Amino acid sequence: DRTTCWLLGDQLNPDLDALDAADEVLLIEAHGFADRKPYHAHKLTLVFSAMRHFRDDLRDRGHDVTYVQAESFGEGLDEFFAGRAAEANDGEDDDGPRLRLMRPASHGAGERLRGLVAERGGTLELVDNELFWTTPADWREWAGDEGTEIGADGAAERTYRQEHWYRHVRRETGVLMDDGEPVGGEWNYDDLNQETPPEDWEPPGRPTFEPDELTRETHAWVCDRFDTWGNDALDGFAWPVTRAEAREALDRFVRDGLSAFGRYEDAMVGGEPFLSHSLLSPAINLGLLDPREPVRAVERAYEERGVEPGAYDPDDHGDAGGTVTSLSEFGGDAADGEDGATGGRAAGGNEPGPVPLNAVEGFVRQVIGWREFMRHVYREAMPELAEANQLEQDRELPPAYWDGETDMRCLSEAVGHVREFGYAHHIERLMVLSNFALVYGADPADVNEWFHLGFVDAYHWVTTPNVVAMGSFGTDVLSSKPYASSGSYVNRMSDHCADCPYAVSRTTGDGACPFNALYWDFLKENEETLRGTGRMGLMYSHVDKKDDEEWAAIRERADRVRELAADGDL
Ligand code: FAD
Repeated sequence: DRTTCWLLGDQLNPDLDALDAADEVLLIEAHGFADRKPYHAHKLTLVFSAMRHFRDDLRDRGHDVTYVQAESFGEGLDEFFAGRAAEANDGEDDDGPRLRLMRPASHGAGERLRGLVAERGGTLELVDNELFWTTPADWREWAGDEGTEIGADGAAERTYRQEHWYRHVRRETGVLMDDGEPVGGEWNYDDLNQETPPEDWEPPGRPTFEPDELTRETHAWVCDRFDTWGNDALDGFAWPVTRAEAREALDRFVRDGLSAFGRYEDAMVGGEPFLSHSLLSPAINLGLLDPREPVRAVERAYEERGVEPGAYDPDDHGDAGGTVTSLSEFGGDAADGEDGATGGRAAGGNEPGPVPLNAVEGFVRQVIGWREFMRHVYREAMPELAEANQLEQDRELPPAYWDGETDMRCLSEAVGHVREFGYAHHIERLMVLSNFALVYGADPADVNEWFHLGFVDAYHWVTTPNVVAMGSFGTDVLSSKPYASSGSYVNRMSDHCADCPYAVSRTTGDGACPFNALYWDFLKENEETLRGTGRMGLMYSHVDKKDDEEWAAIRERADRVRELAADGDL
């Protein structure tokens, strides 16, 4: 009996065990979803180009690949089944086709696809998705069997905390562990990871992967076929579309970006969309990289080039990845006892920089902490998660999210990055884009859709918990308080406020930073839900100090800001 391994567009990895046991591979390029909404042109180009490259790569590796382009999975399966029926008539195969699929990350998709296959007379076996490090069984072992439901009021029956999960996964996988204890003695170095770079610091630069003929063709077809949003020119598109390019992107990050990753992880700098971020989420989410790979690679870099937490200050050495000759000058102790600066490849004659533990720990936390955590919280909290709205916010996103036109420097920068690259880094997503939407009062489901359309790394399983739960506080399933802040956070972590026509020092009156009045108004409006959450005590002690006159001025400014924003005049 022939077994067909069906791989989805976010399962593009040639080294899967699931492929070993298969006689042939099925890929269905379904277009309908992109007909219905204006996705970023780069997102569609990335997904479809990566699928087409993967098809060619598999064929080069000797796999028998059926590649179907269709409106929907149903239509794609019709075409595949018609082909198999013709073969069966030749006497080759009497039973219906047997397909095997790694369980899709999207809620309910496995069962839906199994139904589609069954309706056509075939069988679909669902197997564990190898492209996550932890399995649903691992999660149950940690969380127990009860699961959680989100009530109509947005409150979760059970809540989960990333920090606990993260430590559990570190213990189970042995990543950055030393005899059952965390390497370096601490689980968390976040306090070292909140700096902003000095003006003369040069970020390592984005690795760019020049679009080849197939990507160019795909992009031309995308622009012709779909209504898209954002930058529809190919310049600016530099994402890895093959596994080889993705591995190169990882190498480049480990060599050039990792040294300063921790220290500047939360920083925002005008004109610098990428800083020292890895830019790997598009490749990991497509399956081009297995999440174990970046984690193991930074662990290896730590063994070769590791220094103590905070021991490396990139400001002292010009550009990151600059010439560093000996670790001893940083007082570091490389784990292998050798000169760590010799590890990795040389960059244009420069050796890669040392790797402080806070950078490595910070990166590992993102992948095995946050990424795996979000996946399981999503599994547990769907389908209610997608609609959760405990604060009952219902405003439409202001037009600035679509056209980037606003005098608010932080918001125009962040939206500009999304429009241009389909990317903004974590702090722009959390503390500008979703923070503004939160204090403005936007409907979490609308915000979720906006992130889906705009970001090249957006997939329902990862965008939804990040946007609805973390960014919009639609539910308390993964955090006990909202990520809401006034302009002072942006001021502390960026250079935007100095160049902004709005005054971050003022809360009320014309010209005051819009974040400020919105923030206080948000706290006041949502007092009933938020005051009791325990961790908001300090914030509400400030709320309590304001008198009626102050509140009237705050309300007036917040109303005015909302009006200006809704009219596209902010
Ligand atoms: P780095 O800063 O270099 O981090 C390394 C890796 O860690 C990332 O590549 C990613 O794989 C992983 N990671 C870090 N944080 C998270 C997280 N919270 N959830 C999942 N993975 C994480 N991530 C997506 O992949 N797709 C999304 O659609 C998405 N939407 C988001 C929306 C909001 C409102 C917020 C606050 C976060 C969102 N994130 C999303 C998480 C995170 O912002 C991105 O993964 C990260 O910015 C990707 O850029 P990078 O690869 O340069 O990340």
